Amino acid sequence: MIVEDEQTLREGLADLLAAADHHVEAVENGTDAVAAGQREAFDLVLLDLMLPDLDGVEVCRRLRRARPALAILMLTARGSEDDKVAGLEAGADDYLTKPFAVRELLARIEALGRRATAAPAEPEVIEADGCELDLGRLSARRGEQTVSLTPREAGILRWLHRQRARAVSRGELLERVWGSTGDLQTRTVDMTIANLRQKIERDPAEPRIVLTVTGAGYAWGETEDA
Ligand code: CA
Repeated sequence: MIVEDEQTLREGLADLLAAADHHVEAVENGTDAVAAGQREAFDLVLLDLMLPDLDGVEVCRRLRRARPALAILMLTARGSEDDKVAGLEAGADDYLTKPFAVRELLARIEALGRRATAAPAEPEVIEADGCELDLGRLSARRGEQTVSLTPREAGILRWLHRQRARAVSRGELLERVWGSTGDLQTRTVDMTIANLRQKIERDPAEPRIVLTVTGAGYAWGETEDA
């Protein structure tokens, strides 16, 4: 689904993606986007940040609430760190600053489908410090409480768990989980992990699942389930 109020861009993107064999639905405002997103199971949403009614951050939040596993790529004319962070906090998986190169857009769309954020075919459940992480179904359960994970959060957990014998740098997470081509900053990783800890850690101030390794990055905290 393409959500873009600027007609020329909306139609251009629709043509471009149709030519790349994607089935496309294009809408011009946030209200229509939320309605369509609740009605249909899209693989990916290209979401403009600046919309005439609901802004992209709010649309993202509502789409994410309805469909936790939906891949959302935010398109923004603004390049400030605050806007990017707001988008990521609202649950976007990636963002691209306008004007963007067509090849980069297509590459990011492909990458969203195949990187560490891609859901596995087999159940993928990891028990860590009393929290049951279901990475395939994007949920985390601790006792009676279940919270949803974003594909990005599941991607981080998946990569750290796979690499649990060692620490993983922020740059590596950007590459493996975000598929970053360079304009993202390592602070983005820290913010995403801070949010993730709020969801899964017993005490986010004393994390035991996603550990900070000073001078190196992050590491999986539990190894006995290997
Ligand atoms: Ca716009």
